[in-house]
Amino acid sequence: MSLMKSSKKRQVVIAGAGLIGSTMALALASKGFDVTVFDGTTEKDRINRNKGRTYALSRASKNLFSNLGVWNEKKLNVSPIENIILSTRKDSNDPIRHLVEFKKESPAFDPSSYMIEDFYLRKVLSSELNKNTNIQVIDSTEVIQDETNSFETKISLSDNSLISTEILIISDGRDSGFARRLNKKFFKKNYNQVAIVGNLSHKNDHNCTAHQLFLNGGPLAILPLQGNRSTFVWSLPVEVGNKLSESTDEIFTSHLKENIGDILTNASLIDEKKMFPLYLKFLRDSIDIRKVFIGDSALAIHPLAGQGLNIGLRDVASLVDVLFKGKKLGLDLGSFDLLKKYETWRSFDKISIATYTDLINSLFSNDNIYLKALRELGMNTIDNSKLLKNFFVKEAAGEYGNVPELLKN
Ligand SMILES: Cc1cc2nc3c(=O)[nH]c(=O)nc-3n(C[C@H](O)[C@H](O)[C@H](O)COP(=O)(O)OP(=O)(O)OC[C@H]3O[C@@H](n4cnc5c(N)ncnc54)[C@H](O)[C@@H]3O)c2cc1C
Repeated sequence: MSLMKSSKKRQVVIAGAGLIGSTMALALASKGFDVTVFDGTTEKDRINRNKGRTYALSRASKNLFSNLGVWNEKKLNVSPIENIILSTRKDSNDPIRHLVEFKKESPAFDPSSYMIEDFYLRKVLSSELNKNTNIQVIDSTEVIQDETNSFETKISLSDNSLISTEILIISDGRDSGFARRLNKKFFKKNYNQVAIVGNLSHKNDHNCTAHQLFLNGGPLAILPLQGNRSTFVWSLPVEVGNKLSESTDEIFTSHLKENIGDILTNASLIDEKKMFPLYLKFLRDSIDIRKVFIGDSALAIHPLAGQGLNIGLRDVASLVDVLFKGKKLGLDLGSFDLLKKYETWRSFDKISIATYTDLINSLFSNDNIYLKALRELGMNTIDNSKLLKNFFVKEAAGEYGNVPELLKN
């Protein structure tokens, strides 16, 4: 069907049906909005492209999925994280030294975070999207550009059709074409690191423990999946990472095993590994009249704290809150004043997580002699400081500040 024929103005348009755009659509529909979501790819492409990826999901993000009716531990193949251990190691001859350990607060509480697999999450989200009558998902159609006036935004699509909307929500990922086209100002810092990610099967029980191992070249996370399986996220200097990623599975696995010591026994790679260049990218402002950037398109961070998706889900819950209140008051959803409320609400959380991940990465991944001294200091500080411990725990749970309704239990 050509979209030109249905000239009806859409209430909300979302550009990008990744995990963030999809959740945004469900969250808006749960509050009675009509939503149209476009993605340049097909659902099959998105599933294949992200095959084998996994995410650490905070308890607040779990609350969001529960409130939207998509949290089903069986269907999502979820694995709880009961303990978190932060350790350090100079090289593979050096023993692994524990810095801090966080145990589950009490059996009465839900775990602070969960591991979730992309494949299952995408399946569950897409089945909910398809059955929701307030949502229209249009695949293989890119949002090309927009023209905004005081009444609406006119959007041109890759099939040469035009539609209009009150507000355009942009969730087109960390390499946002929209941010480029609109000449949005951003801060970018290249980490000169890549992350190699993949999944392992192993003999021992992981005891629902997440490990973050600070190695000389960068942090290596080992995270528990259902069964005797774990995910690894290994940040490495670009040259080392490129070389390792091109090596055979045997060479790669043996190098990985040397670094993780006895955390996992008899580990072997399941499926193929993936590689991502790492950088921090932060839009100076994530709003315009009738437009708002959410998820990675607004902020992409280092994966060491496993927080990128969680931050995007906090964008979703906060934006829905603001738009819903605006709708109840009969306000223009695309007005700058309304969107500014969202931007102000989100800015502290985003700046602090960007700064924090950046600092930890520089402190623990660099061989610079001064940083090394600082790192030693940092280690002791982390070990002793209740404040920092609390910060780590809170970050894992994602419950702090002024929490939007959809993130509450
Ligand atoms: C190595 C690594 C490990 C990570 N681990 C974790 C973790 O443990 N926990 C966590 O919370 N986060 C983690 N993250 C972060 C997480 O992966 C991202 O924050 C999240 O996937 C971003 O989702 P998104 O929907 O914003 O963007 P994307 O997944 O990039 O989706 C963007 C979508 O927009 C579509 N699109 C692009 N342009 C257009 C257009 N013009 N029109 C229509 N559609 C368009 C694309 O096809 C795509 O489907 C990790 C990231 C990395 C790199």
